[in-house]
Amino acid sequence: MKNIKKIIILSKEEEDLIYLQNAKNIIKYFYKTSKKRVKMQEKYMKEALKEAKKAYEKKEVPVGCVIVKDDKIIARAHNLKESKNDTTKHAEIIAIQKASKKLNSWRLLDCEMYVTLEPCSMCAGAIINSRIKKIYIRKLRRKNRSMWFST
Ligand SMILES: [Zn+2]
Repeated sequence: MKNIKKIIILSKEEEDLIYLQNAKNIIKYFYKTSKKRVKMQEKYMKEALKEAKKAYEKKEVPVGCVIVKDDKIIARAHNLKESKNDTTKHAEIIAIQKASKKLNSWRLLDCEMYVTLEPCSMCAGAIINSRIKKIYIRKLRRKNRSMWFST
């Protein structure tokens, strides 16, 4: 998988705040993260990409997402806005719903999300409210970034 080093980690834990603009920090992060951990992150992002591919095959905007807890994927989803004619059927929202159902709680504490594209404002709100601990983003949007900095 190419471009894996561009994964952005956004988290409320300050030491994890890594932004694409700061390449040095990314290198530092990968340096202090164990190789095994990076392998796991790559694995989950690949799963998110598989979901994005499913969306692409359905002629949807290709966005895929997985939610991981205790090193297990507990939910996976892809964008279904067109096929469901529903503006809220973004991959992240569907994944959050599935994870909440599975955990029987809306609090997705200790969960991590892997998503192929930076979430929109609707999904960002849902992610913050779901208390997901950390989010890995493969590709940032050009605009729309300020909402993350304000959290
Ligand atoms: Zn969204």
